[in-house]
Amino acid sequence: MNKNELVVVTGAGGFIGGHLVRALGQRGHTRIRAVDVKPLAEWYQKIPGVENQVGDLALLEPCRAAARGAAMIYNLAADMGGMGFIETHKAECMLSVLISTHMLVAAREAGTKRFFYSSSACVYNGDKQTDANVTALKESDAYPALPEDGYGWEKLFSERMARHYREDFGIATRVARYHNVYGPDGTYDGGREKAPAAICRKVIQAKLSGNHEIEIWGDGEQTRSFMYIDDCLEGTIKLAESDVVEPLNIGSDELVTINRLVDIVEKIAGVKLKRRYKLDAPKGVRGRNSDNTLIKKLLGWAPTIRLEDGMAKTYKWIHDEMTSGKASVVNALPKQALAAQ
Ligand code: NAD
Repeated sequence: MNKNELVVVTGAGGFIGGHLVRALGQRGHTRIRAVDVKPLAEWYQKIPGVENQVGDLALLEPCRAAARGAAMIYNLAADMGGMGFIETHKAECMLSVLISTHMLVAAREAGTKRFFYSSSACVYNGDKQTDANVTALKESDAYPALPEDGYGWEKLFSERMARHYREDFGIATRVARYHNVYGPDGTYDGGREKAPAAICRKVIQAKLSGNHEIEIWGDGEQTRSFMYIDDCLEGTIKLAESDVVEPLNIGSDELVTINRLVDIVEKIAGVKLKRRYKLDAPKGVRGRNSDNTLIKKLLGWAPTIRLEDGMAKTYKWIHDEMTSGKASVVNALPKQALAAQ
């Protein structure tokens, strides 16, 4: 697209949206509007030179204000979090359908040409994810539909609506199915955090407090893949600007158990912790990986950043946040641990 046309990012006060605004600016976009429901003071990143807008995109009028004049919209706004959040807030997750719907309605009214929607690997059929030795999920595994209850159903429905907006109204909608994304400037406490950030936080707390224990949700043998934010941004922009009309996986295919993820973080931190397994905690599916055959074929690209490299950067950022006095979690750290920093 022409880099002087207006591009809008919703959910821009959040993790991926904040990074995406920065990445679009770095790629030469001169007119960027960033929108989120959170007060500006709570945005993870505020990028200079960008028009920031605060509005509740569950409502149509703020969506109209967000979409006005937009040539391209990246719709990332959603009420979401890690397993601990989505398994206990199903109705709230499903209410994101209001954001997805109203943003498409507003985009059509505004004459927006392209529209990117961030879907999720949670759309995949749960029956295909019951074994830790997973067969990686390919795009066709979304049907017959049996997505994650609540959050996954909303994503699958909204993907479908994006498809029909393309077919019926001619907006070039593009859909990514993100598999777990992690990195700096994301959520790492408060209940919405995902496994990589939560494990970094727990290891840092254990190290600083001297209480060398860690609680792990489930038996730790559940498998996942985790994609570093830079790969997510690369894939997002490539897909958004491509001719690919079907939903594509954007995810790492480096499969690990949660126990292995803890090993990696312990190694970065230089500690070894006693593991306590909380078997009744929310665990999600038993195993999940991304099959990247289709993205390689259609975009000639797939994520490559190794988990150990991405986690080292993420750990450092969370450590700096927790020990700088900025973070809310700092209150959970003993005073002597902070004094030792
Ligand atoms: P995030 O929670 O950090 O960001 C989402 C942002 O949307 C938040 O800042 C939130 O305030 C905003 N938002 C929520 N309700 C809103 C509303 N009514 N109006 C305006 N803004 C609203 O999450 P993220 O990790 O950056 O995820 C971005 C998108 O990617 C989401 O759609 C999410 O479902 C999808 N996704 C993320 C992952 C992941 O691993 N992070 C995986 C799969 C899909």
